[in-house]
Amino acid sequence: MRPVLPGSTIGVLGGGQLGRMLALAGRHMGYRFVTLDPTEDSPCGQVADRQITAPYNDAEAARELAQLSDVITYEFENVDAGVAAMLESASRVPQGSSLLYTTQHRLREKRAIEAAGVRVAPYEEITSAANLREAIGRLGAPCVLKTATGGYDGKGQWVIRSAEEADEAYAALSQAQTELVLEKFIRFERELSVVAARSPRGEVRAFPAAENIHEDNILHLSIVPARAPEEVLKRAERMAVQIAESLDVVGLIAVEMFQTPEGDLFVNELAPRPHNSGHYTMEACATSQFEQHIRAVCNLPLGSTELLTPVVMVNLLGEHVEPLLRWLAEQVQEDLQVTPKLHLYGKKEAKTKRKMGHVNLLVNDVKDALKWIEGTGVWSR
Ligand code: AMP
Repeated sequence: MRPVLPGSTIGVLGGGQLGRMLALAGRHMGYRFVTLDPTEDSPCGQVADRQITAPYNDAEAARELAQLSDVITYEFENVDAGVAAMLESASRVPQGSSLLYTTQHRLREKRAIEAAGVRVAPYEEITSAANLREAIGRLGAPCVLKTATGGYDGKGQWVIRSAEEADEAYAALSQAQTELVLEKFIRFERELSVVAARSPRGEVRAFPAAENIHEDNILHLSIVPARAPEEVLKRAERMAVQIAESLDVVGLIAVEMFQTPEGDLFVNELAPRPHNSGHYTMEACATSQFEQHIRAVCNLPLGSTELLTPVVMVNLLGEHVEPLLRWLAEQVQEDLQVTPKLHLYGKKEAKTKRKMGHVNLLVNDVKDALKWIEGTGVWSR
């Protein structure tokens, strides 16, 4: 595959914040951008050269995107299979559609991770309430019942504390009309994630592992370096490289995992795109995840993933934006131990729990960042 050189146009299917940050990174390099999104003036549309406003499954609009673009990338994983196939025939889609097919379904994804020689939490496919009761017997309670498709941020999940909950959990999740999977509940010490990139020429690089803290199933903090033994972090990074190679990834793959107190790592899930837990790379690494993704899909040499400074990324949800902006505007920056870098996504409505932006806190010691977050009072309301 010939490199797609700066000056060319990159088409982005999906106009959310990930597309926006891709376009901002690519514009520095001289690429032009066109995005397709159903919402007028989308986060990506605001910084792209052009937006086509249409539903994601509108074949005509997708064809137009293909005609305007030298290469196409997607910023979310629930791309309609028909549209993906059409784009692949009409244009260059280096990420392809087979990785989407794998990661859109938890069972297919788990099998692919195992085929890469990497461990996932013990699991079983569930086909009936009776089968669920037997599986709880084998895996033991607590365990987690999940829908195979359509779940995100903890939706489509039920933590089963005892076998008596089986019928209720099955009745609730089987309404989703998709396969179900039961997983052993991992008593993890921390959650880690690694974003890795692979280019069509076969080059693979992983970013440093992030330690992730969730609140109400939504990512709250990413702490880098993660507060885990160096050997565990290196192993996590190697696992992500192994998965990127085994799945023939082109572009980015984010690998979320659980680390047990014994140091064992189990992969929870994959995302074939830039990832919220990789936003820390924007100022803290020699190359950001967004630039790396562009380099990979354009088949340019990948950049260094070296960590330049410790960092904590804190997400800004709808309820945090107004108090934080007020705090930042009024605060005299006396504490030079922390350099806060604000990223807002240009979304109109600051709804509660909606991801509106993030702040990367550049520090010498991650403890200073955690103190800074507490000091603002913004996240404790
Ligand atoms: P997921 O939608 O699979 O990313 O899960 C959302 C969150 O639920 C994870 O970040 C974990 O905190 C928790 N979780 C999911 N699966 C398990 C599991 N098998 N064991 C323990 N916690 C889990």
